[in-house]
Amino acid sequence: MTVSLLRSSLAIPACSAASSSAAVTQKTITSSTSALKAAAGPTTGAAGAGAGALRASLAFDIHNRQDVQPVDATFFEERRDAVHATLKDASVAPEDKQDISALWWARKALSANRCPSCWLNPRYCVCNIVRDMCQETNVTTPHKVHVWMHHKEFGSASNTGNMLCHVLGSEKSRLHLLGHRESSLELLNLLHSASASRPTLVLYPAPDAEPISRVAETMRENGVSACDLVVLDGTWGHARRMYRELPEPRPPHVHLVAFGTDGDADAVVRKPVFARGDARRKASYWKSTDKAYWQALAAGDAPTDDETAPSSLLAPVRMYRGPGSGRLCTLEACGIALRALDPDGRDGAMALDETLRAVLRRKVDRLLLQNGTEAVYCDDV
Ligand SMILES: [Zn+2]
Repeated sequence: MTVSLLRSSLAIPACSAASSSAAVTQKTITSSTSALKAAAGPTTGAAGAGAGALRASLAFDIHNRQDVQPVDATFFEERRDAVHATLKDASVAPEDKQDISALWWARKALSANRCPSCWLNPRYCVCNIVRDMCQETNVTTPHKVHVWMHHKEFGSASNTGNMLCHVLGSEKSRLHLLGHRESSLELLNLLHSASASRPTLVLYPAPDAEPISRVAETMRENGVSACDLVVLDGTWGHARRMYRELPEPRPPHVHLVAFGTDGDADAVVRKPVFARGDARRKASYWKSTDKAYWQALAAGDAPTDDETAPSSLLAPVRMYRGPGSGRLCTLEACGIALRALDPDGRDGAMALDETLRAVLRRKVDRLLLQNGTEAVYCDDV
C-alpha cells in the first residue's frame, strides 16, 4: 500500500514540498537530495568499479559494531587520496559519493579510542549499566523506532539516537545512516511498505505536521495498535535538510504537542531558570557543574518559569544555539512520542520513558567525567 493511501487513512493533509523554514542554499539541497536516493543504483563503468572497490574497503556493519575490526591511521592515509578523487569525479553518481562519504565519516568516528557501542571512551563505557537498567525494567513498546541519523552524528559521544537504539534493542529499533546505501534502501522500503494497519510516521515539527496525540487517537479508532516511528537524528539544520529529502508524497509527519499540555509531558522535562541579569550563568549553563541544580532538574524539582518550554537533560554536554529551552534531544523526544502513541499502555510507556531518561542521565554523567568535569545527575557513576 502506498504512502498516499496511508495519509488518507489517517486524514492527514498533504504537506507542501516547499518548506518555509528555508535558509538552505541550492547547493545544499542538491547534495542533500541525493542522499536518500542511494538506492537508485551504483555508478557503472570504470568509475563504478573504482568507487565500488573503495566502498567495499570502507564498508562495515553499522548495526553490529562490536565485530568491526579497528583500523589505524594508515588505513585512512592509504584511502584519503582515492576518496577525495572519487568525490570530485563527475562520472561517479552522487549517490555513490554520498555512500562513500558516509562510510568514510563513520569509519573515522569508530576508529577513535571509543567504545563501538556507546561511543564513550572505553574507560567510561556505559554499555553494561544500560544493559542492567534495561533488564531490570524490561522495557518494551508495541512500536518500532527508526533512527535516521545524520552521518556527522555517528560516533559522537553526545549523540542520543544511538543510545535510543541501545535501550530499545534490535527488535524495536533500527539505525539508518544518512547517505549509506543499505540504510537508504531500508528506509525507502519502510516508507513504501507503510499500510493503514501498520503506518509509518515521521516525527518532525513541520508547519503542517499533525499533533501526535491526534494521530494516536485516529490509530486507536481504526484499531491500529502499532506503527513505525521515524525520528531524525541530527542538529536542527541537519533535520531540516533530511526532512526535505523524504520522497514525495511525504509520509505522515507528527509533532509533539506543546509541552506541558500533552498528558504527562509537563512532568518530563523542565526549563532551567536564571535570575534576571544572571547572564554569565545563563550563557554557560549548558556546561554547568552545579550538581544540586541538575539533580533537582532530573528529579523534576527545579524551579521553572515556563512549563511550556522544557530544557534537555543533554544540555550539560551539548551546546544548543539560542535558548536552551524548548530543545529536546532525540532520545527525549522519542520517549514522549511513544507515551503519546500508547496512552492505553500508559504504565509501560511511562516505564520506558523513565528508563530512557535514566540512561541519558548516566550517559551525560559519564561523558562529563570523560571531559574532566564533575557528574551532575548521579552520585554512583
Ligand atoms: Zn560502551
